[in-house]
Amino acid sequence: MGIGHVAVGLSLKRIDPESNVGWLILAALLPDFLLGWFALGGWESYAPPAGYESKHYLLFTFPWSHGLAAGLIWAATGAFLAFLITRRRRCALGVAIAVLSHFVLDGIAQVKGLPLVLSGSPVFGLGLWRHLPFELALEAGMTVAGLWIYLNTTREHLQRTGTGMAIYTAVLAVFLVIGQWRAAGLPSRAALITSWLMAPPIMAGIALWFDRRPRSGRRGLAARVVLEGMILRIRFGRGMKVSKVRGKNRRIALMIASVLTPFSLMAAVLGLWRLGSDLSWVGEFAIPSGPLSHWQVWLSAAAGIETCSLALGRYGRGEDSAAE
Ligand SMILES: [Zn+2]
Repeated sequence: MGIGHVAVGLSLKRIDPESNVGWLILAALLPDFLLGWFALGGWESYAPPAGYESKHYLLFTFPWSHGLAAGLIWAATGAFLAFLITRRRRCALGVAIAVLSHFVLDGIAQVKGLPLVLSGSPVFGLGLWRHLPFELALEAGMTVAGLWIYLNTTREHLQRTGTGMAIYTAVLAVFLVIGQWRAAGLPSRAALITSWLMAPPIMAGIALWFDRRPRSGRRGLAARVVLEGMILRIRFGRGMKVSKVRGKNRRIALMIASVLTPFSLMAAVLGLWRLGSDLSWVGEFAIPSGPLSHWQVWLSAAAGIETCSLALGRYGRGEDSAAE
Protein backbone atom coordinates (compact mmCIF):
# COMPACT_ATOMS: atom_id res chain seq x y z
CA MET A 1 0.00 0.00 0.00
CA GLY A 2 1.04 3.58 -0.49
CA ILE A 3 -1.37 6.40 0.28
CA GLY A 4 -3.31 4.01 2.59
CA HIS A 5 -0.50 4.33 5.15
CA VAL A 6 -0.68 8.12 4.96
CA ALA A 7 -4.45 7.86 5.53
CA VAL A 8 -3.89 5.85 8.73
CA GLY A 9 -1.36 8.42 9.94
CA LEU A 10 -3.87 11.23 9.31
CA SER A 11 -6.64 9.44 11.20
CA LEU A 12 -4.37 8.74 14.20
CA LYS A 13 -4.31 12.49 14.85
CA ARG A 14 -7.59 11.74 16.65
CA ILE A 15 -5.73 9.69 19.29
CA ASP A 16 -3.30 12.46 20.16
CA PRO A 17 -4.27 15.83 18.65
CA GLU A 18 -1.14 17.29 20.27
CA SER A 19 1.13 15.23 18.02
CA ASN A 20 2.22 16.60 14.70
CA VAL A 21 0.60 14.29 12.16
CA GLY A 22 3.87 14.18 10.17
CA TRP A 23 5.41 11.95 12.85
CA LEU A 24 2.40 9.63 12.77
CA ILE A 25 2.65 9.37 8.98
CA LEU A 26 6.38 8.65 9.26
CA ALA A 27 5.60 5.89 11.80
CA ALA A 28 2.96 4.43 9.48
CA LEU A 29 5.52 4.37 6.64
CA LEU A 30 8.44 3.18 8.81
CA PRO A 31 8.54 -0.43 7.48
CA ASP A 32 8.93 0.85 3.89
CA PHE A 33 11.75 3.15 4.99
CA LEU A 34 13.43 0.21 6.78
CA LEU A 35 12.92 -1.93 3.68
CA GLY A 36 15.08 0.59 1.81
CA TRP A 37 17.94 0.14 4.28
CA PHE A 38 17.63 -3.65 4.48
CA ALA A 39 17.43 -3.99 0.70
CA LEU A 40 20.48 -1.77 0.38
CA GLY A 41 22.34 -4.00 2.85
CA GLY A 42 21.23 -7.14 0.98
CA TRP A 43 19.21 -8.57 3.90
CA GLU A 44 15.88 -8.22 2.15
CA SER A 45 14.93 -8.75 -1.46
CA TYR A 46 12.16 -8.52 -4.02
CA ALA A 47 11.34 -10.22 -7.30
CA PRO A 48 8.91 -9.30 -10.05
CA PRO A 49 6.23 -11.92 -10.76
CA ALA A 50 5.97 -13.41 -14.26
CA GLY A 51 4.11 -10.85 -16.36
CA TYR A 52 5.02 -7.87 -14.17
CA GLU A 53 4.01 -5.47 -16.95
CA SER A 54 0.33 -6.33 -16.46
CA LYS A 55 0.48 -7.03 -12.71
CA HIS A 56 2.17 -3.88 -11.37
CA TYR A 57 3.27 -5.46 -8.08
CA LEU A 58 6.40 -7.07 -6.64
CA LEU A 59 6.94 -10.16 -4.48
CA PHE A 60 8.93 -9.34 -1.37
CA THR A 61 11.09 -11.27 1.09
CA PHE A 62 11.22 -8.77 3.92
CA PRO A 63 10.93 -10.32 7.40
CA TRP A 64 13.05 -7.64 9.13
CA SER A 65 11.15 -4.60 7.93
CA HIS A 66 7.65 -6.02 7.40
CA GLY A 67 7.34 -9.20 9.52
CA LEU A 68 4.95 -9.16 12.48
CA ALA A 69 7.62 -10.07 15.06
CA ALA A 70 9.94 -7.34 13.80
CA GLY A 71 6.97 -4.96 13.52
CA LEU A 72 6.24 -5.41 17.24
CA ILE A 73 9.85 -4.46 18.01
CA TRP A 74 9.77 -1.42 15.68
CA ALA A 75 6.43 -0.33 17.19
CA ALA A 76 7.79 -0.68 20.74
CA THR A 77 10.95 1.22 19.82
CA GLY A 78 8.96 3.99 18.12
CA ALA A 79 6.54 4.25 21.05
CA PHE A 80 9.45 4.38 23.51
CA LEU A 81 11.17 7.17 21.56
CA ALA A 82 7.89 9.07 21.20
CA PHE A 83 7.30 8.86 24.95
CA LEU A 84 10.89 9.85 25.68
CA ILE A 85 10.54 12.98 23.57
CA THR A 86 6.94 14.03 24.28
CA ARG A 87 6.18 12.40 27.67
CA ARG A 88 2.68 11.73 26.35
CA ARG A 89 1.31 8.18 26.50
CA ARG A 90 -1.20 9.01 23.78
CA CYS A 91 1.58 9.99 21.43
CA ALA A 92 3.41 6.71 22.13
CA LEU A 93 0.17 4.81 21.55
CA GLY A 94 -0.45 6.62 18.25
CA VAL A 95 3.06 5.80 17.03
CA ALA A 96 2.75 2.13 18.02
CA ILE A 97 -0.60 1.75 16.23
CA ALA A 98 0.78 3.55 13.17
CA VAL A 99 3.76 1.18 12.89
CA LEU A 100 1.67 -1.97 13.43
CA SER A 101 -1.03 -0.81 11.01
CA HIS A 102 1.55 -1.21 8.25
CA PHE A 103 1.55 -5.00 8.77
CA VAL A 104 -2.23 -5.16 8.50
CA LEU A 105 -2.53 -2.94 5.42
CA ASP A 106 0.37 -4.50 3.54
CA GLY A 107 -0.98 -7.93 4.52
CA ILE A 108 -4.26 -7.06 2.80
CA ALA A 109 -2.47 -5.94 -0.36
CA GLN A 110 0.64 -8.13 -0.66
CA VAL A 111 0.44 -11.24 -2.82
CA LYS A 112 3.39 -13.15 -1.33
CA GLY A 113 2.38 -12.11 2.18
CA LEU A 114 4.15 -10.83 5.27
CA PRO A 115 5.85 -13.36 7.59
CA LEU A 116 4.62 -13.66 11.16
CA VAL A 117 8.18 -14.25 12.37
CA LEU A 118 11.06 -14.73 9.91
CA SER A 119 11.37 -16.13 6.41
CA GLY A 120 9.77 -19.56 6.24
CA SER A 121 7.21 -18.87 8.96
CA PRO A 122 3.48 -18.62 8.13
CA VAL A 123 2.54 -15.49 6.20
CA PHE A 124 -0.39 -13.08 6.21
CA GLY A 125 -1.24 -11.93 2.71
CA LEU A 126 -4.69 -11.50 1.19
CA GLY A 127 -3.23 -10.51 -2.17
CA LEU A 128 -5.60 -7.67 -3.03
CA TRP A 129 -2.95 -6.45 -5.46
CA ARG A 130 -4.18 -9.19 -7.80
CA HIS A 131 -7.29 -7.02 -8.17
CA LEU A 132 -5.54 -3.71 -8.58
CA PRO A 133 -8.65 -1.52 -9.24
CA PHE A 134 -10.19 -2.70 -5.95
CA GLU A 135 -6.94 -2.20 -4.07
CA LEU A 136 -6.50 1.33 -5.37
CA ALA A 137 -10.18 2.14 -4.75
CA LEU A 138 -9.75 0.94 -1.16
CA GLU A 139 -6.73 3.21 -0.70
CA ALA A 140 -8.59 6.17 -2.21
CA GLY A 141 -11.52 5.52 0.15
CA MET A 142 -9.14 5.29 3.12
CA THR A 143 -7.59 8.60 2.10
CA VAL A 144 -10.96 10.35 2.13
CA ALA A 145 -11.80 8.82 5.52
CA GLY A 146 -8.38 9.62 7.01
CA LEU A 147 -8.53 13.21 5.80
CA TRP A 148 -12.06 13.61 7.12
CA ILE A 149 -11.01 12.42 10.59
CA TYR A 150 -7.94 14.69 10.49
CA LEU A 151 -9.97 17.74 9.47
CA ASN A 152 -12.53 17.06 12.19
CA THR A 153 -9.78 16.76 14.80
CA THR A 154 -8.09 20.00 13.78
CA ARG A 155 -11.27 21.97 13.16
CA GLU A 156 -10.33 24.93 15.32
CA HIS A 157 -7.45 25.91 13.07
CA LEU A 158 -8.93 24.40 9.93
CA GLN A 159 -8.41 27.43 7.75
CA ARG A 160 -4.72 27.53 8.43
CA THR A 161 -3.71 23.88 8.08
CA GLY A 162 -6.78 22.10 6.72
CA THR A 163 -6.85 23.40 3.17
CA GLY A 164 -3.14 22.85 2.64
CA MET A 165 -3.27 19.34 4.07
CA ALA A 166 -6.35 18.45 2.00
CA ILE A 167 -4.74 19.64 -1.25
CA TYR A 168 -1.46 17.95 -0.38
CA THR A 169 -3.15 14.61 0.42
CA ALA A 170 -5.28 14.73 -2.73
CA VAL A 171 -2.26 15.45 -4.95
CA LEU A 172 -0.24 12.71 -3.25
CA ALA A 173 -3.10 10.20 -3.61
CA VAL A 174 -3.55 10.94 -7.32
CA PHE A 175 0.21 10.72 -7.85
CA LEU A 176 0.57 7.37 -6.03
CA VAL A 177 -2.58 5.74 -7.43
CA ILE A 178 -1.81 6.72 -11.03
CA GLY A 179 1.84 5.78 -10.47
CA GLN A 180 0.95 2.22 -9.52
CA TRP A 181 -1.84 1.94 -12.07
CA ARG A 182 0.37 2.93 -14.97
CA ALA A 183 3.65 1.29 -13.81
CA ALA A 184 4.88 -0.58 -16.87
CA GLY A 185 8.59 -1.39 -16.81
CA LEU A 186 10.31 -2.67 -13.68
CA PRO A 187 12.22 0.20 -12.04
CA SER A 188 15.93 -0.34 -11.41
CA ARG A 189 17.13 -1.56 -8.00
CA ALA A 190 18.71 1.82 -7.29
CA ALA A 191 15.45 3.61 -8.15
CA LEU A 192 13.36 1.32 -5.93
CA ILE A 193 15.74 1.59 -2.97
CA THR A 194 15.99 5.34 -3.38
CA SER A 195 12.20 5.65 -3.40
CA TRP A 196 11.85 3.50 -0.23
CA LEU A 197 14.49 5.59 1.50
CA MET A 198 13.33 9.00 0.31
CA ALA A 199 9.53 8.80 -0.03
CA PRO A 200 8.60 8.19 3.65
CA PRO A 201 10.61 11.10 5.09
CA ILE A 202 9.60 13.45 2.28
CA MET A 203 5.90 12.53 2.44
CA ALA A 204 5.90 12.80 6.24
CA GLY A 205 8.04 15.94 6.19
CA ILE A 206 5.57 17.85 4.01
CA ALA A 207 2.70 16.78 6.28
CA LEU A 208 4.82 17.85 9.26
CA TRP A 209 5.09 21.30 7.75
CA PHE A 210 1.36 21.63 7.04
CA ASP A 211 0.47 20.43 10.54
CA ARG A 212 2.90 22.72 12.34
CA ARG A 213 1.49 24.70 15.21
CA PRO A 214 1.42 28.47 15.21
CA ARG A 215 4.59 29.32 17.06
CA SER A 216 4.65 32.05 19.63
CA GLY A 217 7.43 34.62 19.42
CA ARG A 218 9.02 33.00 22.45
CA ARG A 219 10.09 29.99 20.49
CA GLY A 220 11.10 31.69 17.28
CA LEU A 221 10.65 30.15 13.88
CA ALA A 222 11.67 26.54 13.49
CA ALA A 223 12.27 24.97 10.12
CA ARG A 224 12.54 21.26 9.82
CA VAL A 225 14.66 19.83 7.07
CA VAL A 226 13.92 16.24 6.16
CA LEU A 227 16.89 14.31 4.85
CA GLU A 228 17.10 10.53 4.43
CA GLY A 229 14.88 9.84 7.37
CA MET A 230 16.88 12.08 9.62
CA ILE A 231 15.03 15.06 10.95
CA LEU A 232 17.64 17.72 11.38
CA ARG A 233 16.45 20.78 13.11
CA ILE A 234 17.68 24.19 12.24
CA ARG A 235 16.46 26.92 14.48
CA PHE A 236 16.58 30.55 13.62
CA GLY A 237 14.60 33.67 14.32
CA ARG A 238 14.44 35.58 17.52
CA GLY A 239 15.20 32.73 19.86
CA MET A 240 13.70 32.52 23.28
CA LYS A 241 13.58 34.86 26.17
CA VAL A 242 16.03 33.50 28.68
CA SER A 243 14.05 35.19 31.45
CA LYS A 244 11.33 32.59 30.96
CA VAL A 245 13.68 29.68 31.31
CA ARG A 246 14.10 28.84 34.92
CA GLY A 247 17.34 27.60 36.42
CA LYS A 248 20.91 27.34 35.38
CA ASN A 249 20.63 23.66 34.42
CA ARG A 250 17.96 24.43 31.86
CA ARG A 251 20.09 27.11 30.27
CA ILE A 252 23.06 24.75 30.07
CA ALA A 253 20.81 22.04 28.57
CA LEU A 254 19.56 24.47 25.93
CA MET A 255 23.10 25.52 25.09
CA ILE A 256 24.26 21.92 24.69
CA ALA A 257 21.14 21.09 22.65
CA SER A 258 21.84 23.88 20.17
CA VAL A 259 25.49 22.87 19.86
CA LEU A 260 24.61 19.21 19.23
CA THR A 261 22.50 19.78 16.11
CA PRO A 262 25.43 20.91 13.91
CA PHE A 263 27.35 17.80 15.05
CA SER A 264 24.39 15.62 14.14
CA LEU A 265 24.18 17.34 10.75
CA MET A 266 27.89 16.74 10.18
CA ALA A 267 27.59 13.03 11.06
CA ALA A 268 24.60 12.69 8.71
CA VAL A 269 26.51 14.34 5.86
CA LEU A 270 29.47 11.97 6.40
CA GLY A 271 27.09 8.98 6.48
CA LEU A 272 25.41 10.09 3.25
CA TRP A 273 28.78 10.68 1.63
CA ARG A 274 29.83 7.11 2.49
CA LEU A 275 26.48 5.80 1.21
CA GLY A 276 26.74 7.86 -1.97
CA SER A 277 30.26 6.60 -2.62
CA ASP A 278 29.05 2.98 -2.17
CA LEU A 279 26.43 3.65 -4.84
CA SER A 280 29.08 5.33 -7.03
CA TRP A 281 27.17 8.62 -6.98
CA VAL A 282 29.94 10.64 -5.34
CA GLY A 283 33.70 10.37 -4.95
CA GLU A 284 35.72 8.17 -2.62
CA PHE A 285 34.90 8.52 1.10
CA ALA A 286 37.57 10.23 3.20
CA ILE A 287 37.98 7.35 5.68
CA PRO A 288 38.64 4.14 3.68
CA SER A 289 38.69 1.59 6.53
CA GLY A 290 38.06 1.07 10.24
CA PRO A 291 34.86 1.59 12.29
CA LEU A 292 34.45 5.18 11.08
CA SER A 293 34.39 4.07 7.43
CA HIS A 294 30.82 2.70 7.71
CA TRP A 295 27.72 4.76 6.88
CA GLN A 296 25.74 2.82 9.51
CA VAL A 297 28.05 4.22 12.21
CA TRP A 298 27.69 7.81 11.01
CA LEU A 299 23.92 7.75 10.47
CA SER A 300 23.34 6.05 13.84
CA ALA A 301 25.57 8.66 15.47
CA ALA A 302 23.59 11.43 13.75
CA ALA A 303 20.27 9.97 14.96
CA GLY A 304 21.61 9.47 18.49
CA ILE A 305 23.04 12.98 18.73
CA GLU A 306 19.86 14.56 17.41
CA THR A 307 17.72 12.54 19.83
CA CYS A 308 19.86 13.84 22.70
CA SER A 309 19.56 17.36 21.32
CA LEU A 310 15.75 17.12 21.13
CA ALA A 311 15.50 15.69 24.65
CA LEU A 312 17.81 18.36 26.10
CA GLY A 313 15.92 21.07 24.22
CA ARG A 314 12.63 19.91 25.70
CA TYR A 315 14.11 19.82 29.18
CA GLY A 316 15.65 23.24 28.68
CA ARG A 317 12.34 24.79 27.59
CA GLY A 318 10.60 23.19 30.57
CA GLU A 319 8.19 21.29 28.32
CA ASP A 320 8.75 18.00 30.11
CA SER A 321 7.28 19.33 33.36
CA ALA A 322 4.24 20.74 31.58
CA ALA A 323 3.37 17.40 29.99
CA GLU A 324 0.30 15.51 31.13
ZN1 LIG B 1 5.17 -1.70 3.11
